[in-house]
Amino acid sequence: MRSHLLNDTTAEHYRRSVTEGVERVAARLAATDRPFTGVTADALAPLIERIDLDQPLHDTSAVLDELEDVYLRDAVYFHHPRYLAHLNCPVVIPAVLGEAVLSAVNSSLDTWDQSAGGTLIERRLVDWTTGRIGLGPAADGVFTSGGSQSNLQALLLAREEAKTDSLAKLRIFASEVSHFSVKKSAKLLGLGQDAVVSVPVDQDKRMRTVALARELERCKAAGLVPMAVVATAGTTDFGSIDPLPEIAELCDQYGTWMHVDAAYGCGLLASVKYRHRIDGIERADSVTVDYHKSFFQPVSSSALLVRDAATLRHATYHAEYLNPRRAVEERIPNQVDKSLQTTRRFDALKLWMTLRTMGADGIGELFDEVCDLAVEGWHLLAADPRFDVVVQPSLSTLVFRYIPRTVTDPAEIDRANLYARKALFASGDAVVAGTKVNGRHYLKFTLLNPETTPADMAAVLDLIAGHAEQYLGESLDRAS
Ligand SMILES: *Cc1c(COP(=O)(O)O)cnc(C)c1O
Repeated sequence: MRSHLLNDTTAEHYRRSVTEGVERVAARLAATDRPFTGVTADALAPLIERIDLDQPLHDTSAVLDELEDVYLRDAVYFHHPRYLAHLNCPVVIPAVLGEAVLSAVNSSLDTWDQSAGGTLIERRLVDWTTGRIGLGPAADGVFTSGGSQSNLQALLLAREEAKTDSLAKLRIFASEVSHFSVKKSAKLLGLGQDAVVSVPVDQDKRMRTVALARELERCKAAGLVPMAVVATAGTTDFGSIDPLPEIAELCDQYGTWMHVDAAYGCGLLASVKYRHRIDGIERADSVTVDYHKSFFQPVSSSALLVRDAATLRHATYHAEYLNPRRAVEERIPNQVDKSLQTTRRFDALKLWMTLRTMGADGIGELFDEVCDLAVEGWHLLAADPRFDVVVQPSLSTLVFRYIPRTVTDPAEIDRANLYARKALFASGDAVVAGTKVNGRHYLKFTLLNPETTPADMAAVLDLIAGHAEQYLGESLDRAS
């Protein structure tokens, strides 16, 4: 049987294959009692290595059976309420349906003649998002592969708009807890080693604007060019939101591009309750949003939005076969002129399906729930003498560490926390993340699952304390 999508026969094949796959995955999802089995790479690698890729099975059911063994059984499941690790969300069903539609139709969003309505739908969603941000009538944007790509493109535009005769003179200002893609972008954009100036944060992990003002002044005095300030609206570790209005003032004063990295905090754009926390975002020159983080969309679904559509021209190149100049004159819409990618997924369809089914309020309520859950978690941690918690949550993360009653050696406490995280992962009972604060090892909950309850958090904290105590007990035995 031909296995591509072509005619009535293959349409029937498509229907059967996808239905069977959906049944398997649905059964698997319903059966997961833990977010992870705790499988190790050493245990899994031989199963995958053993498969002869040159000996196809010619049978979807058999391939799905095999997939159970090499992937589905041992995958990390973000929909499980005790997956509390990274910025991964459980996905809403309308978006999953959108994913199935977009890959079956397989539009490519570079040109009109590869997408038709897809291009217009993406444009509507870009306009919807710029409207929610408040970027004004000249705004535009494009869907991207993720926050890293959005940040790269934003900084490309800022670099092209900066007035300088030398890339070495350009400086980008971002807080010390901004995302690493800022530094990576600076490197990709050919800026110098010292291009990214790290601005200190206050005790709530928000950029200190007094320090930013000082750094901007120092930059100017040294004859350098402040190319961009990256304000983070929801830092990856702490969910902290930089003071956007004050940063906007400084950007005006120094004639600097203001980029807001709202990869995480963008969910507030749909929130009725907490939208005010990102007030000031409307003054940005560019904004990164990751719908695949706080809009409960499958990977990937992201966008870069800009205040002035004309700045997107810095990504425009023409190819005779694809987007010739005369197509511009004929006013045929295309998105490739705005994108770093050429062939590009119709990721926007997932957001479309979501908004048309649940509405923005539906998404905003889900995000509000996890923000409220984080506040409950903070109270749990603050009241628990076994733990030290870093900052009150602005979004939905909690950074904390286990502190034993008897041990005071900070290095030993570090090791106990590292051990607890690993042991928890190996057990598969829960998955939590880790990070460093002031040089010390901490643990992190990223709460993006509205199904997670305070009881889940309490149970996971008990598990963490148990593993840490076990480590310290064994460590004492080793010493004696
Ligand atoms: C996740 C994240 C990014 C990167 O986004 P990807 O979609 O993973 O590429 C950028 N900035 C912040 C603040 C993030 O949390």
